[in-house]
Amino acid sequence: MQKGSIGVTTENIFPVIKKFLYSDHEIFLRELVSNAVDATQKLKTLSSFGEYKGELGDMDVTVTVNKDEHTLTVTDRGIGMTADDIDKYINQIAFSGAEEFLEKYKDNANAIIGHFGLGFYSAFMVSKKVRIRSLSYKDGAEAVEWMCDGSPEYTMEPTDKTDRGTEITLFIDDDSTEFLEQVRINTLLKKYCRFLPVPVKTDGQVINDTEPSWNRKPADLTDEDYIKFYHELYPGQDDPLFWIHLNVDYPFTLTGILFFPKIHNNFEVRKDRIQLYCNQVFVTDSVEGVVPEFMMLMQGVIDSPDIPLNVSRSYLQSDTAVKKISGYITKKVASRLEEIFKNDRKDYEAKWQDIKLFIEYGMLTDTKFCDSAMKFVLLTDVDKVNYTLSEYKSLVESSQTDKDGNIIYLYATDPTAQYNYIKAARDKGYSVLLMDGQLDSHFIGLMEQKLEKTRFVRVDSDVVDNLIVKEDRREADLNAVQRAILTTVFRSQTPEVKNANFIVAFEALGETAAPIVITQNEFMRRMKDMAAMQPGMSFYSELPDSYNIVVNTQNPIIEKFTKDADGALDQAVTPLMQRTDEANDTITRLRGDGKETPDAETSQKIKDLEKTVADTRAEQEKIVADYAKTNPTVRQLIDLALLGNGLLRGADLSAFIDRSYSLLK
Ligand code: ADP
Repeated sequence: MQKGSIGVTTENIFPVIKKFLYSDHEIFLRELVSNAVDATQKLKTLSSFGEYKGELGDMDVTVTVNKDEHTLTVTDRGIGMTADDIDKYINQIAFSGAEEFLEKYKDNANAIIGHFGLGFYSAFMVSKKVRIRSLSYKDGAEAVEWMCDGSPEYTMEPTDKTDRGTEITLFIDDDSTEFLEQVRINTLLKKYCRFLPVPVKTDGQVINDTEPSWNRKPADLTDEDYIKFYHELYPGQDDPLFWIHLNVDYPFTLTGILFFPKIHNNFEVRKDRIQLYCNQVFVTDSVEGVVPEFMMLMQGVIDSPDIPLNVSRSYLQSDTAVKKISGYITKKVASRLEEIFKNDRKDYEAKWQDIKLFIEYGMLTDTKFCDSAMKFVLLTDVDKVNYTLSEYKSLVESSQTDKDGNIIYLYATDPTAQYNYIKAARDKGYSVLLMDGQLDSHFIGLMEQKLEKTRFVRVDSDVVDNLIVKEDRREADLNAVQRAILTTVFRSQTPEVKNANFIVAFEALGETAAPIVITQNEFMRRMKDMAAMQPGMSFYSELPDSYNIVVNTQNPIIEKFTKDADGALDQAVTPLMQRTDEANDTITRLRGDGKETPDAETSQKIKDLEKTVADTRAEQEKIVADYAKTNPTVRQLIDLALLGNGLLRGADLSAFIDRSYSLLK
C-alpha cells in the first residue's frame, strides 16, 4: 500500500474547501459527473482512432445513492486511471497564493474550483471520506483503490475491480445528508446534467438529452422542434415569438438558441432566464455580463467553452472575450430581427406589441443595438397602423413641419382620456401616435436625440393650432381693461383642484374652436413622468401638475361674455386701473435709476404708494370677482373643460351638476 500526503503547499486544503465554499455545495455532483462524462468521451475518441481496440460496451454514467451506507457513487466506463494517473492528476494539486485567492473568491465556488482544477476535490465539500476505484483502459492495467478522509493523507493500493472505468464513492458527511435523497439527486442532475453528451442514469433512468437542439444544424430543425425545445426548457409557458440559433466557431466558440418569450406583465422579473452551459454542462442562469443587459428579457441557452465561468462577475464584465461574445450576440439578435422584419413583415407586425418593450429597452441601453434597430423599430398610430421611422417621417413631413423646420410627431398616451385632443388634431389632418408603452417616455427622449429636427409633442400639450406652430401666434384682441377683467373673472372662477395649478391665458383660436381648452405643458409633464420613474427625484414628482386654461377670445360665448362684463364693469374698473397706473408711475419716478438709496421721506412715500397699489388691486379684484359670481357662464365653461380632462371631482362636480340642471330650467 502506498501512503502519502497530497501535494499542496497550504497546510490543509480540506478545511479551507469546506469553510469557504459554504454556498454552492451542490456543484460537487456536476464536477464528478462531468469528469465521468469526459473520461467516457475520451475513450470513445481513442476507440474511433483505433487506439483502443476493446469493446466499448455500455457507456452510461451512473449515479447511485445508498442511504443505508451513507454513500453516493458515480460510476463510469471511461478511460479509467492507473496508480500513476492518480498520482499525477489527483495527488498533486498545484497551489500558489491559495489562501489569498480563496479569501477573495470565498463566495464563488465556481471560481475556486475552476482556478485550481479542483473539480474532483469539491467532493470533500459534502463527504467525510472519498474513495476512488479505477481500472484503466490500458492493456495490462491494474485496478487501484485510493482513499482519503479529508486530511492531506491518502492511501492507495491495488484492488480487485474488473470492470473498466472509474467508480467514485462519497461517504457523505452528517451535515450533508440531503445528498442521500434520491429526489434531491434527481433535481440536481436535471439542473446540471440535463444536456450532457453521454447518457447519465440514476434510479434506473436516463435523465439527460445527449443531443440538445442547439448543437444540431439549424437546417435539420423545424419550427416545431424549436418550440418543443423551448417548452422542455420552460414548461408551462406560451409559445415563443421568435428564436435565434447562434453558431460561431471563430474567434470564439459559441452555440445556443435564444427565444423571445411572450411577455405578459411588462417588467416581470424573469425567473426562467437564459442558461449558460459549458460543453453541455449547466453552469449558471445568472448571465449578467455575458449577454447585454437588455437581453435579460430573453430566454434560451448559450453554450460556450470560451466564457471564463470560474471568475467573478466584475471580472466577467471587463473581460475582452466576454465583450466580444456579448457584442456578437447583440449583432446576431439585431440582424435576426431585421431579417424577420424584411421577410415577413406581417408576422413581425402581429408580434410587435409583444417585442416592442424588448426592442425599446435594447435601444435605450445599447447604442450598437439602437443603431441597428432604427431600421426595424416601429411607431404605431392611434388606429394601430405601424410605420418604420422612415415611413413615418415621409408620412408627416409635409403636413407637420413647424415654422422653424422641426417635424412634430404628435402622440397620445391614453386614447380615451385624450380623445378630444386626438380628434382635434386629426380633424386638422395630423397623424397621432400611440405612446402608451412602459418605456415610451424614455423612448421619445431617445428618438429626439436620434432623429434630426424632430420633436414629440403630446396632443394635449397645447391647443391644436399651437401644437405645430406654422406661423406666429395670433394674439387675443383685448384691451387692457378687458384683459384685466377677464383674467380676474377666470382666475376667481377656477376651482381648487388637488395637485393642480392653473394658469389663465387668452388666445384667438377662431369662432368654431371651443371656448376653453385645458392643456398641459409638455416640458413640465415630461419632467414629472421621468421623475416618477426614477427614485430620488421625488421633488419633481411631488410638484403639482401645471395646466393652462386657454380662453378662446374669438369663441362667440366668450365674445359675448367679454362684451357684457366690459359693459358692466368698465366704469368701476377703469378709474381703479388708472389709480394703480399712476401710483406705479410715481413709484418708478421716486426710485429713479436705483443707484442711490432713497432718503427716509422718499422711502415712506414709496411704501405708501405700494400700499395704494395693493389696496386698489384688491378692490378691483373684489368688484370683478363679485360680478363673476352673479354670472354662472364662466364657471360652467371652466367646469366643462375640467370635466373633459377628468379634473372635476367631488364637491365641485356635484355643484356643476346642480348648476347644469338649474341652467336648463
Ligand atoms: P479537471 O477535471 O478540471 O482537470 P479534476 O480535479 O476534476 O480537474 O480532475 C483531475 C483529473 O483527474 C482529470 O483531468 C482527469 O485526468 C482525472 N479524472 C478525474 N475523474 C476521472 C474519471 N472519472 N475518469 C478518469 N479520469 C478522471
